[in-house]
Amino acid sequence: MGRWPVIACPHCARLHERLPVRAGAMASCSQCGHTLYRQSRLSLYSWIALVLTALVIFCVANYFPIVSLSAQGLTIQATLVGALTLTWQQGHAFLAIMTGLFSFVFPLGQILFLLWALMALVTRRIPWDFHYGLRVLRVITSWSMVPVFQLGLLVAIVKLADMAVISTGPGLWAFAALTVVMTALGRVSATRIWRHAEDAGLVPVSGALLRDGDTPVDCLECGYVQPVIPRALRQSCARCSAPLHLRKPNDEGRAWAFVIAAGLLYIPANVLPVMYVRLPTGVTSHTILGGVVELWRLGSWDLSIIVFIASVVVPMTKLFVLAALLVRRPHWRGVSIQRQRTRLYEMVEFVGQWSMLDVFVVILLSSMGNFPGISQITAGAGAVSFGVVVVLTMFAAMSYDPRRGWDRLPLHGGSMMSGSGTLSALGGNPTREVHKENA
Ligand SMILES: [Zn+2]
Ligand SMILES: [Zn+2]
Repeated sequence: MGRWPVIACPHCARLHERLPVRAGAMASCSQCGHTLYRQSRLSLYSWIALVLTALVIFCVANYFPIVSLSAQGLTIQATLVGALTLTWQQGHAFLAIMTGLFSFVFPLGQILFLLWALMALVTRRIPWDFHYGLRVLRVITSWSMVPVFQLGLLVAIVKLADMAVISTGPGLWAFAALTVVMTALGRVSATRIWRHAEDAGLVPVSGALLRDGDTPVDCLECGYVQPVIPRALRQSCARCSAPLHLRKPNDEGRAWAFVIAAGLLYIPANVLPVMYVRLPTGVTSHTILGGVVELWRLGSWDLSIIVFIASVVVPMTKLFVLAALLVRRPHWRGVSIQRQRTRLYEMVEFVGQWSMLDVFVVILLSSMGNFPGISQITAGAGAVSFGVVVVLTMFAAMSYDPRRGWDRLPLHGGSMMSGSGTLSALGGNPTREVHKENA
């Protein structure tokens, strides 16, 4: 093939040559507009420094108390690990495990795997298990939810403000700093590390094996574009040995199953209480909408709106959008309609984890509002249902294959300048012959 590595758009399967772009610029797909890659202003060494910073902040955030709460002579110091232990002891093992994974294990894993992969790049020594490590990194990055947890912390503190005297601890500031650093690190995806390794000549270059007349297929794990082996029953990626498929197998059936299951569980998630508050005056139960109203009543209308959007608007919109994307209509076939559907899918992917907000709030409240003899907050079945709804909608979005919609369009050729980067497009659709058009 050409001089540059070949890259397949994950949203429409169009092939492009990965031309260099200047620092800070990005290159978008000429067909669907999806951002294919960016050129970072930071060097590999700067990224390693940032990862090490994240590791230090992570330790501070989890070792020191997030807040100290005092009420009627009793003082509680809340940490994330303490909150998880208490949720476990209260009999909500599932909630404790889920929150522990999303806010502790996966962020820590993301930091450690990034450090390991970046060190392999700068020392120019690719370990034999590099591809396994990057596969793990790809999975845990999409489930690592530090920014959502940080917002949950703020909501929990506001809700407890009239019950106890709150003084912030070093953990709170560390979590705020971790949110910023982890958001930056979220840009270093596994695919991006593969591209760095490609550019450094450490791994085979994507598209190098393609010849005229080959049917190309791209690996969803590492992005390696390679020819389909004719008449092979099963094919694995020649670079990372992950199973290869032209399209995600049985994607629509699986996505529908997740959407329907999430839709059904969304009912108990809203009807059942997400938490119980025991005070000397009696026990009250709170649903998700009740919590929104309570925040409004406390005067935090801004947080009330945020919780309403994260817990009610986002999950409902996600379910409707996913269902709309899965419905096929013969007249929904134009390029502009496909581009809009691609934008919708990107939005669903982006907002995916933010609905976890209310689950984090409940767990934090149950640890922070637990004053023996004065008050006790415990999670309810609604919180479990709600957590499962969020996980199911994320699985649904991951199962859906946005390339299917583009497959039904006639070949749409041409190249264009997009963003500040230049891309030359290679013709069409991996099930067709690849030919250079404007390279
Ligand atoms: Zn595209
Ligand atoms: Zn691969």
